[in-house]
Amino acid sequence: MTLLIEFSYLIAACLFIVGLKYLGLPATARKGNALSALGMLIAIVVTLLDRQVINYTMILAAVGVGSFFGVASAKWIRMTAMPQMVGLQNGFGGAASALVSIAELIRFMTTAETLPLDASSIALLGLLIGGVTFTGSLVAFGKLQGWIQGAPITFRFQQMVNALLVLCFLMGSGYFIFSHSSFPLFLLLIFISFLFGVLFVIPIGGADMPVVISFLNSFSGMAAAVTGFLVLNHALIVSGALVGASGLILTQIMCKAMNRSLTNVLFGAFGGVGGKAVTAQTEFDQTVRTIDAEEAATVLAYAKSVIIVPGYGMAAAQAQHAVQSLVQELEEKGVQVKFAIHPVAGRMPGHMNVLLAEADVPYTQLMDMEDINPEFDKTDVSLVIGANDVVNPAARHDSASPIYGMPILDVDKSKLTIVIKRSMSAGFSGIDNELFYKPNTRMLFGSARDVVLKLVGEIQQL
Ligand code: NDP
Repeated sequence: MTLLIEFSYLIAACLFIVGLKYLGLPATARKGNALSALGMLIAIVVTLLDRQVINYTMILAAVGVGSFFGVASAKWIRMTAMPQMVGLQNGFGGAASALVSIAELIRFMTTAETLPLDASSIALLGLLIGGVTFTGSLVAFGKLQGWIQGAPITFRFQQMVNALLVLCFLMGSGYFIFSHSSFPLFLLLIFISFLFGVLFVIPIGGADMPVVISFLNSFSGMAAAVTGFLVLNHALIVSGALVGASGLILTQIMCKAMNRSLTNVLFGAFGGVGGKAVTAQTEFDQTVRTIDAEEAATVLAYAKSVIIVPGYGMAAAQAQHAVQSLVQELEEKGVQVKFAIHPVAGRMPGHMNVLLAEADVPYTQLMDMEDINPEFDKTDVSLVIGANDVVNPAARHDSASPIYGMPILDVDKSKLTIVIKRSMSAGFSGIDNELFYKPNTRMLFGSARDVVLKLVGEIQQL
């Protein structure tokens, strides 16, 4: 029986790994998701059969409630709210791990004469990582939802307070174990882990949220792996380690995309100011040149090459299907069309890739920043659809800008840039964009979906 159980866990672990591999490409991502879900189903069923479950009714009720909310959120949450949902799910993962650690510690406190050193240490580690992930993710959710200001929230001696909290947690944990459990201290440790999560994320500015989200994602995996050691469940250890490691890789990719080190993001109290557009150091001519849909359609249809740069506005307007129709019309006219994908465009890692894959844009047409940047100066028209920060040239030269140093898509180097957005207002980092005032830029105002559909209609009549 034990062999069968271990073998089932091995199958589940293999399904997670193969699923993760398939998730690497939009074309196979659905299959990857299904395989990983199957792995999780096997792991859950085997765990329920393996353990001496006292009350199946409670477990089934919890599975029912969890499944209901899972299906409901997958069906009803808008694509634009996905980043917040991902943030929240990281938090729930952390909360689950913290709760298991808390339950195990209560069990030790009520059943054992002395607390077992190894298991209690693991449980306290699970509580710390899980608690930080939970409250940190709630703050990240609040920032993405606009409920908490995007700008860094800082106060004097903040890093020192954070370091003190960690020290207090470690010393308190030691005392808790060796003093054979003290309930008030136990409550204090829970409080510290939750408080640390909040204080850890509030000083990180809006523009650095991509790094924070991937880091918290990694934390949720680590918390699950620690919990796996605690309850001696191999499937949990493997799946937690996979999430932890892939989250760390993603964090590294996001740091590279922002040209920032992880320590700089976590301890630099840096990032966007949010809200109204502000201009940093550089002064520039603020003449805005507009273009209407009819003229833009003509320019696009007679261009040899067009690079489309999607951003958050395309997601907000749900314009991806309209954009795909535009690409088809342009290609029928013999225009060569490519997409330039910035790693932090939108509001979650891979946001643009997911949307464009949903609209059946071939993956081969999507170009990474490093590959497409050398092509802009040879391109006739760059069509920016709802992107702002990722095409802001201030990132290259304005050391006072919150996005200074972040690599951007060099759209300003193309012969003509057409920008579709609703107004002159700022992007996520809250700063003005000198691209919009350049002599070779034309603003095409309106909501992305409506404007792109208008362009499609105009091109069809040419
Ligand atoms: P931005 O947020 O910089 O700009 C988006 C632009 O879209 C706005 O200026 C807005 O202008 C426009 N817009 C909004 N709605 C519409 C609409 N319906 N139709 C047309 N335009 C619209 O987006 P980018 O993608 O350029 O940059 C992403 C930013 O988000 C970066 O600062 C990044 O750091 C941050 N971020 C990224 C995350 C990630 O993981 N990818 C996570 C969290 C933050 P207007 O209102 O005038 O229309």
